[in-house]
Amino acid sequence: MSQDKIQKVTIIGSGPAGYTAAIYAARANLEPVVFAGGPTLEHPQRVPGGQLMVTTDVENYPGFPEAITGPELMERFQKQAERFGTALHMENITKVDFSQRPFLLESESGMQVRSETVIISTGATAKWLNVKGEDTYKNRGVSACATCDGAFYKKQDVLVVGGGDTAMEEATYLAKIVNHVTIIHRRDSLRASKVMQERALNNPKISFLWNSAVEEVVGNPKGMTGAVVRNLKTNDSQLVTATGLFVAIGHTPNTELFQGILETHQGGYLKTVPGSTRTNIPGVFACGDVQDSYYRQAITAAGTGCMAAIDAERWLIEHGE
Ligand code: NAP
Repeated sequence: MSQDKIQKVTIIGSGPAGYTAAIYAARANLEPVVFAGGPTLEHPQRVPGGQLMVTTDVENYPGFPEAITGPELMERFQKQAERFGTALHMENITKVDFSQRPFLLESESGMQVRSETVIISTGATAKWLNVKGEDTYKNRGVSACATCDGAFYKKQDVLVVGGGDTAMEEATYLAKIVNHVTIIHRRDSLRASKVMQERALNNPKISFLWNSAVEEVVGNPKGMTGAVVRNLKTNDSQLVTATGLFVAIGHTPNTELFQGILETHQGGYLKTVPGSTRTNIPGVFACGDVQDSYYRQAITAAGTGCMAAIDAERWLIEHGE
């Protein structure tokens, strides 16, 4: 890619939102450039393709009645984007200057990109518990991804923290591999959808510790051996023996790059004009989980990706491009 060329559309991020934006922009002859991202020192588990890359079966994406794995689905998104001429760079954008047009972006390898419009689809990242021992035993017991790390815990006892769909999905997946899964949840009812709840509740290899929180992860030089769990009603603490702890308590939007530049909601999610993907800066659009704290589904991310490409295309037309 020539660094002198002014791009029409540059897309930051490569989940369902980013790739769908690329497919639509490419088919509109806008020759989109995608910066697909990758691991950083702060976020070593971040991968191009976004959160579906660490998901097992996706059963609710329309068009796949037999289910499809998250990585396979993302591979298909990527191939479809490339088929229509998307230029793909497997690296992160590290700096943006939206103060003048064309906008200026800089990648971690030092590539500078000037672009008439920018579509942000940087997604969201898993949250951690921030308790004693969590960092010490990361990758030696503590994980935020059952699909990535579950196989290390064959026939062992593990813990899952959280009461949402992710926690139920991780626990159900792990139950196929490990000896036993204990789900630790801070309340006495689950936030997860009925079908996911029932799968976990009816699984004989899964049990629950309700109204409970992990206070500390403990272990020895070889790795984690258990967690101190406190009952939030009685205040009693117990040591639960386990070699793995999977944290599944939600996500934080990946908006570090846009702090102080783009308007955000209270939880840090980017603000868009309702019914559109327009941010507070004309020519900058946001789609997918980075601007959606509510639906957070692959299909809604893809839908807003399509909207962002159409919004960018119309914006370019309105501005004589
Ligand atoms: P979520 O729905 O926000 O649930 C997070 C869970 O973690 C909640 O139960 C919450 O407890 C608990 N939690 C939050 N902070 C905590 C903390 N500091 N300590 C202990 N527990 C904490 O997040 P999610 O499960 O990742 O799901 C996100 C979205 O993705 C949802 O819309 C979900 O439907 C979707 N999703 C769908 C699928 C699927 O359909 N296959 C799979 C995964 C995710 P409270 O309940 O008390 O707030």
